[in-house]
Amino acid sequence: MTTSPPARQVRGVAVLGSTGSVGTTALRVLQRHRDRFRVVALTAFSNVALLREQAALFEPNFLGVVGSDDDVMSGWACGPDCLVRAAQRDDVDIVINAVVGGAGLDATLAAVSAGKRVALANKESLVMAGELVLAACGRGGGEIVPVDSEHSAILQCLAGRSMKDVRRIILTASGGPFREWPRERLARATVADALHHPTWSMGRKITVDSATLANKALEVIEAHFLFGLAYEQIEVVVHPQSVVHSFVEFVDGSVLAQLGAPSMELPVLYALTHPERLGDTGVPPFDPVELGPLVFESARYSDFPALRAGVEAGRRGGAAPAVFNAANEQAVALFLEAKIGFLDIPRAIDAALERLGDGDGGNRDALMRADECARRIVREMFAC
Ligand code: NAD
Ligand code: MG
Repeated sequence: MTTSPPARQVRGVAVLGSTGSVGTTALRVLQRHRDRFRVVALTAFSNVALLREQAALFEPNFLGVVGSDDDVMSGWACGPDCLVRAAQRDDVDIVINAVVGGAGLDATLAAVSAGKRVALANKESLVMAGELVLAACGRGGGEIVPVDSEHSAILQCLAGRSMKDVRRIILTASGGPFREWPRERLARATVADALHHPTWSMGRKITVDSATLANKALEVIEAHFLFGLAYEQIEVVVHPQSVVHSFVEFVDGSVLAQLGAPSMELPVLYALTHPERLGDTGVPPFDPVELGPLVFESARYSDFPALRAGVEAGRRGGAAPAVFNAANEQAVALFLEAKIGFLDIPRAIDAALERLGDGDGGNRDALMRADECARRIVREMFAC
């Protein structure tokens, strides 16, 4: 009779995108729990100075820099494949994927194929290739545990319960900086306006996604794949305080929610420990009086068309979610360079989906071709 080896007492963790907003939060959490987790791999895009500081603190076995070989220390890995190399290492049990955008896809696939838990902040991987990621989990024995706060909330509400008892889930959305702006004013929204998020401090791309509500469409698709729910069972409500992180409604009408101050510390920690909990002081104490009053509003679908376009892309399936994601990523990059206006972002998404929305999404290469083509359509649309 063979017995499986005992699980490592101290779990090895790779943090991909360790220099970003989620990445630095994750390292703060890991720093408090060095008796349970050891940081064995770190990767960054180009912030070598910060990566060097992180390396001095955590002394990982593997360091990778994706986008620059300037100033890289000897022994560090360089180039895009360092994400996959970090994700597949034998000393890694958990991969925190905190890379932004489609660049995170191959690492997610590699990690779950190698049997790892992926603590997934990089929702774009699941949106682009949800079916492939789930199939790779099935083959390789890996799993995806969400870091996104809404999905973490839902996972926590579902713990120990059967999915057949779920009627629907309701994802909360802050509404972003333009929640109260009339549509006419949105046309004049600047980069600085869009980066001024009312409740969350995050990287630039997701902050713009929160302003267009494209982020909530990405999250609807993410929830579809994570929890196996039909799109009809996933709704969105605007909640400007970002205190209720999402709701689950059960078949008997009972509704559970998970609450807390807007902080990514708990979602990161819970993705590491799920289904267990670990004592921690990172989340500010909960004071319902201080955090209230709590307000809920309908989403303004007609003024924020990226939300509907993204959810429809999810329903359409195939390459459509990858096209939505890539067109959005390219348009957001151009917006952040002040080359296009705020309302050009949903226009770009619509144009790419119109041309490519029926494409094949059956394998990684087809999805990557759709991704590249969508980005090209958006650049050509604005002659960039
Ligand atoms: P960020 O821009 O602050 O950080 C991104 C990280 O990815 C950086 O470490 C950067 O070096 C790395 N990176 C960038 N481009 C890369 C590339 N081409 N290849 C490899 N690495 C690259 O972004 P963030 O806000 O931390 O968001 C990261 C991911 O987490 C996104 O998918 C975002 O949607 C998701 N997320 C973020 C938050 C948040 O609070 N920031 C909340 C929920 C989900
Ligand atoms: Mg979220």
